[in-house]
Amino acid sequence: MKLAQRAGFRCSNPQCGALTIGPGAGPEGVSDTGTAAHIFAAAAGGPRGTGGLSDEERSTISNGIWMCANCGRLVDVNAGKLYSASLLRSWKDLHENRTRLEQGGHVQPFGWVQSLEVASHYLFMPGIIRLSKLNLLFGMNGSGKTRLFHLLTCMSSPQLLMDAAVLKYPADLTCEITWFDPALRRATVDVRGEALAYHVDARRVPLPPRPYRVWSFGTRNQTFAMDSPTIGGIADFLDIDPWAARTVVHSLPDLLPGVISGVTVSDKGSVDVAYVRGWRAADRRYIFPFYVLAAFAELQARSEPTILVLDEPFTFMDPVMELEVLDLFELSHWTFQVILATFSPHACDRRHQGWSATVLMPADGRKSRISQEDGDVEAINRAPEGESWEEIIRKLGPNNRGL
Ligand SMILES: [Zn+2]
Repeated sequence: MKLAQRAGFRCSNPQCGALTIGPGAGPEGVSDTGTAAHIFAAAAGGPRGTGGLSDEERSTISNGIWMCANCGRLVDVNAGKLYSASLLRSWKDLHENRTRLEQGGHVQPFGWVQSLEVASHYLFMPGIIRLSKLNLLFGMNGSGKTRLFHLLTCMSSPQLLMDAAVLKYPADLTCEITWFDPALRRATVDVRGEALAYHVDARRVPLPPRPYRVWSFGTRNQTFAMDSPTIGGIADFLDIDPWAARTVVHSLPDLLPGVISGVTVSDKGSVDVAYVRGWRAADRRYIFPFYVLAAFAELQARSEPTILVLDEPFTFMDPVMELEVLDLFELSHWTFQVILATFSPHACDRRHQGWSATVLMPADGRKSRISQEDGDVEAINRAPEGESWEEIIRKLGPNNRGL
């Protein structure tokens, strides 16, 4: 019952959203067409496996997602292979957050990037990445992480994609991105020589369709440490207007109520942060930029669908801090999507906690293969090709640290 109430009695599948309650027969009847579906299976051997959770844990409300009867059946078909636990958790978070905002009178544009499919590319074998709310990307240098990010950003800005496809590695390519708005939409980009073509739902459009925004932060061009933050410094870090940076800073106590109790900004723009007593951040100069990133992405997501890309942000960071950053992004109230490219063994361990994992593996010649865990979490230790993901990530990571 609580699960249904938290969902506003609507199906949590972003493509559906059907009302699951209404009048039934007679003057007092109620018709209930919803179902509490399991994220991990109720019984061993069920769809999506047990995720290593106990029987008791799997029967709690946090392992449930409210759906209409049709969608409840749909996600369990074929052992749940097309609907991973991290995807269902993403849907649940997204739906509950939207319900919360709607109840508070806010209107949030609906947006959710579902998949990126490479049909042909000079660096990748054909493959698909299904995105959850939280996404890990593992791949060694040269495996195409950056090129993959270019594919993701080309829906709003094709410059980086075209620079490589025309000047550096002249080659044709085709990829497709699907998203919900809330209907399922589909856009393709085709590069043929110097010609770039976009189609949305199979119709040609002249300019990039911009269904979402990607904000990218990486160690190559960013410092993830702030000794004494200022509005100007934060504006530079986010590459946004100082007024917008001020808005982000002032949103911190609201968006991180368990962490930050208050913020004051001096006349000269220096930012003083009061933390909630007992908050455990070991080294705030490293963790603070991530609070800023999360708050910024959340505010951005309230005006347009937003993907925050973090490319190797953990260099020079203490493992304790990595855990805090992972905890931060796991907070369920965020409505943006995260792609975290990393070799962090701690991140690898979080695959069971709502992060979906994609690995770029060297395959044919110079091409990489895109491999993704399927819905069966218990298959991790035999996939792919009999190797454990830990082994694969260790092999891939030239700069790995003790996996
Ligand atoms: Zn439904």
